[in-house]
Amino acid sequence: MATIACAEIRGIIFDLDGTLYVCDRYAAEIQAAAIGYIASLIQISSAEAALIIAATRLRLTAESGTVPTISAVCIELGGNAPDLHRVFTQKLRPEAYLVRDERVVRLLERLAEKFRLAIYTNNNRPLTTRIMKCLGLDGLVANVFTIDDTWRGKPDEEMVCRVLAALKLAPEEALFVGDRYDVDLRQPEQLGCPVYLSQHLEQLLRLERLLTCSEK
Ligand SMILES: [Mg+2]
Repeated sequence: MATIACAEIRGIIFDLDGTLYVCDRYAAEIQAAAIGYIASLIQISSAEAALIIAATRLRLTAESGTVPTISAVCIELGGNAPDLHRVFTQKLRPEAYLVRDERVVRLLERLAEKFRLAIYTNNNRPLTTRIMKCLGLDGLVANVFTIDDTWRGKPDEEMVCRVLAALKLAPEEALFVGDRYDVDLRQPEQLGCPVYLSQHLEQLLRLERLLTCSEK
């Protein structure tokens, strides 16, 4: 991954969940909330909802060749993103799981000195705000794009274009960082943006070195 073409990079657009923090227990709570939403929507048990969600995810993956987001699975089962996110906002407790990591805080502080930073997430704004507070990152990122701005979830080419326009960045100037290639990175890469896959903290922390190494 030492191949970021970063001579021209002026901005970095981070995914949030699974990228700026990694927490399996919190990811499981998100999954449980989605199961609860589908169970109540279809009037079935949580166990049945879990099975249907798993089967639907497999089917959509086979049909499209990419793993769908949890929102896409819920929509396929008759739900909708605003209702799902209302449940997420009510049920999820990032405060119980997520803690500040000084290494990430300092990373973003240093990157903010050189680059325009943004967050572009399929999470909603209330939860994004709470999560950023838990992580000690509130106030560090001026531009935050959340799903409830437009209800156009990633992956979505038009939203990538809107993010670039809002940040006044050309594609080659905007590095996208995310933990899911299909969801976070494929569309930006197709538009000509550099991308960086980060699925654990060590990869995230390595980003700064990769950018520094290639400075002119
Ligand atoms: Mg993610």
